[in-house]
Amino acid sequence: MSPKQSPLPLVELVVRSKKIGADQSLVVYGGGNTSSKGEILDHLGRTHQVMWVKGSGSDMMYGGERDYPALYLDDLRQLISFDDLDDETMVDYVTRALVDPTSRRPSIETLLHAFLPAKHIDHVHADAICALTNHPGGAKAVADALGKGFEYVDWMLPGFTLSKIVSKLKDSEGIVLAHHGLVVWDESSDKCLEKTHLAVAKADKFLDSLNVKPVAAFDHGDMPQSELNELLLQLRKKLGKKQILRTDHRLAQIASRKDCQRIVAASASSADHMLRIRPKSALIDISLPAESIESYQRLCTIL
Ligand SMILES: [Zn+2]
Repeated sequence: MSPKQSPLPLVELVVRSKKIGADQSLVVYGGGNTSSKGEILDHLGRTHQVMWVKGSGSDMMYGGERDYPALYLDDLRQLISFDDLDDETMVDYVTRALVDPTSRRPSIETLLHAFLPAKHIDHVHADAICALTNHPGGAKAVADALGKGFEYVDWMLPGFTLSKIVSKLKDSEGIVLAHHGLVVWDESSDKCLEKTHLAVAKADKFLDSLNVKPVAAFDHGDMPQSELNELLLQLRKKLGKKQILRTDHRLAQIASRKDCQRIVAASASSADHMLRIRPKSALIDISLPAESIESYQRLCTIL
């Protein structure tokens, strides 16, 4: 391997991450993170053990190699000897481990990846996994859905403490972080992705098997095209000339429910929903005259 050649684990990481990023049931824009560990040669021909991890806020679907900064693995692993690190100090120490200090800032969850020994690690914020844990019986639901091999960790903010807790669970099949997501790993990049898909499929299957399902009180009635055109024109006026407006029917099931207002006002189901979807959504009552629509310049999703 020459210094100019892309290391195989990095190439595999980018390919795997694109596949994850393309599936919005696993992550929405910028959410989740992935990593791979391997070796690099420096300009003097010396070998270094490194970890590539997703850059903070970058999107897996479109990310290239530059979005996965390399960090000296030994420098990261030494941090496990601290009893505690506040976020600011942790970010400072992680930044010092960057192979190229000018590369993009690594994920806030970098140490979670570094403290686990596996070569390839996926961490996704899958809807099905969050659905398993977004209630008081989360630990049991995870055991029922995924089996005893998976560990359950109660909600806590990402950071040093969570990374240390996760490091102690390295002998499990994977970890579910309550109200947050899934962590799985493998020595093979393809198998790691397989494990992500398998765990999410098991969670989906379990959720589908539940007898208690929300009552779907649909009240669907499409607007005549002429009225829809008028509504879209009014919306466009409110959103501003530089915005592109399009209709998307994927949320029609929710929008058609009589209790849509209550659903939109309910708590967010995951950190991704809180950051990316909820603050940018609005519910418009189409029974009101289109001219009565208030200003929506700051919004991008309208149910
Ligand atoms: Zn996360």
